[in-house]
Amino acid sequence: MVAESLTEKATVTEKGAVLLGNYVACDAFDESKPLRVVTHAHADHMVGLQRSIRTCEKILTTKATKDLIDVMRGPLFLMGGFVETLDCGKTIQYEEERITFFKADHILGAAQVLVEDSQGKRILFTGDFRINETPVIGADILVMEATYGSPQCRRSFGTDLKSLLVSLVEKGLEQGIVYIFGYHGKLQEVMQILHDANVRAPSVVPEKVFQVSKVCEKHGMRVGRLMLLDEWEARELLKNNSSCLAFYHMDARNRVSQDAFRIYVSGWEFDAPVREVSHNEYIIALSDHSDFDGLIEYVRRSKPQLVITDNYRVGHAETLAKEIHKRFGISAVALPKR
Ligand SMILES: [Zn+2]
Repeated sequence: MVAESLTEKATVTEKGAVLLGNYVACDAFDESKPLRVVTHAHADHMVGLQRSIRTCEKILTTKATKDLIDVMRGPLFLMGGFVETLDCGKTIQYEEERITFFKADHILGAAQVLVEDSQGKRILFTGDFRINETPVIGADILVMEATYGSPQCRRSFGTDLKSLLVSLVEKGLEQGIVYIFGYHGKLQEVMQILHDANVRAPSVVPEKVFQVSKVCEKHGMRVGRLMLLDEWEARELLKNNSSCLAFYHMDARNRVSQDAFRIYVSGWEFDAPVREVSHNEYIIALSDHSDFDGLIEYVRRSKPQLVITDNYRVGHAETLAKEIHKRFGISAVALPKR
């Protein structure tokens, strides 16, 4: 049994807000908390942000996430409220509680949030994370993402995905344009992998992808030289099916050149690192979330007394809670209840 005092210190609301301690609401609006944290700039973690900006005392986020929101929602969006940026590893005091951000290996700017209350209890929200480069934080209460929270979601390929990606892209470049589809953040990770592997084909991008990539570059990622779609040179490359890369958001996959060489970057792949879905059309299993084993590993090392799995966002929160209870004998619950 978990002490009543612990279960009252954290929850996930029906509207997706992750509440930590007395003052913090992460990733969705909640009228009872004065501080709104944005763990990262994916849409399902910016729920009700407009309302939070209007009514919360403060929006807390990392500098990189703020820059990403500025390009995704426009520079005026955050100006309606008071935004305080906090670096990972830094702590602020609010009333009797302490709030600290830690890096989360996910998209640029992603952070985990630790609240330490007046009784010294450590309440942690991981946000989205990939275990690889994410520091595991010891906590009494652990609120965690559950995207791949089912034992069926394991990526034990044991292969070097980066070199697979590079060779796939090189194969495509021999034929002409290679279209790459992915979500914001992941696309830029692909750019960096290709850049680091010395793939020097010109890259063509739509405006939004360009802006997000420039923020990533400003914060230290290497994305190579990018050309906007409407530049003359870019138009010529595409028109002539010249050897080049074209990066698009996943949402554009049904709108853009159906018969060209296409690669989708998606984490929802567990059987093989690369899958050919049709001629010249591939899915590569490059994920920015932990698989099931990574989620379990986090719990093992964080040693919490209570785990809450995020059942608002897409994933397997109930299964994960059951598996955690089974393995560690600690209380684990998926919230909100469905
Ligand atoms: Zn995310």
